[in-house]
Amino acid sequence: MPTEPLSLLRELVEIESPTYSTGVRRVAARMADELTKLGGDVRILDGDHVVADLEGRGEPVLLLGHTDTVWEEGTLATMPFRVEDGLAFGPGVFDMKGCLVVMLEAIRAAGADRRALRVFLTADEEQGSRTARGAMDDAAAGVAAALVVEPPTGHGHLKTARKGVGRFHVAITGRPAHAGTSLIDGASAVEELAHQIIHLHELTDHERGISVNVGVVHGGTRENVVAAYADARLDVRVSHRADLERLERHLRGLQPTIQGTSIEVDGEWSRPPLERTPGSDRLFARAREIGRELGLDLKETSSGGGSDGNLVGALGIPVLDGLGAVGKGAHAHDEHIRVDALPVRARLLAGLLQDPGL
Ligand SMILES: [Zn+2]
Repeated sequence: MPTEPLSLLRELVEIESPTYSTGVRRVAARMADELTKLGGDVRILDGDHVVADLEGRGEPVLLLGHTDTVWEEGTLATMPFRVEDGLAFGPGVFDMKGCLVVMLEAIRAAGADRRALRVFLTADEEQGSRTARGAMDDAAAGVAAALVVEPPTGHGHLKTARKGVGRFHVAITGRPAHAGTSLIDGASAVEELAHQIIHLHELTDHERGISVNVGVVHGGTRENVVAAYADARLDVRVSHRADLERLERHLRGLQPTIQGTSIEVDGEWSRPPLERTPGSDRLFARAREIGRELGLDLKETSSGGGSDGNLVGALGIPVLDGLGAVGKGAHAHDEHIRVDALPVRARLLAGLLQDPGL
């Protein structure tokens, strides 16, 4: 007997699963059960990633999801699972336990006459899928396309592009001196950092899809000492692969404006950008057609945030993202999904799984 979708949703939400917690393992095991019931050949890998193969026609289609959430253990006490006015609330209900339910219901609805499937559920997606990279690459080998069951936009629209995300650290060394008697002998790392922050924020180019945000700064020791050290942490996002290298080169080449200070930069890209391709256009066009038959007017959008779609897209595989449950408030206290939209989202995904042309 299949588990009723809403009761499975409740079960999954009530297993709290912040990244790298034992809850992630329990969600993985629960999902493995459901995938086994659907005929899947399921393995739970080191690091609690789930991979399942389901027989069907043609080259497999990859279904991507994740079992972790951003919510700490104990959140349920103040944010319990509840259904009110057709909305289901709770930690991780939108990102992405409701989406996992959509995926299972879609596989069930697609029946036997569908594409071969490979399901990959990442255990640490909310931390950049650090431990999943190798296994995900293996799972993506030989697939025709990847369908990412992440939340859609607030209106249920799909995503064919996502920004690439990098985290960088800028450390500035100056020369300390007495701020009263020998100011002229000093070189202020704090002042230099001020110059660099202005410069870094000016790298933002909305039209090109580049954003640079200095989110954290530290520096100095006392008011009466010229600061010997200051540093900043920044979040960098790009829409185009071509900007990755160019921007990184620029960051690593930052030059001080104040004599006597020096700059050191480190950091890396956690995900490359997911760019629109003819392959993703084709997937979207099919989804739009299937959606129209279901009364949905689906649009193609891009997102400022990354997902596992970025990683698989970088392998040259066509990616369509945002195929999960409709809702709002991912990572926020009012996180919820629309319960009445679960069946139509499952039918949308099922339609894609049955499509011989994907
Ligand atoms: Zn997610």
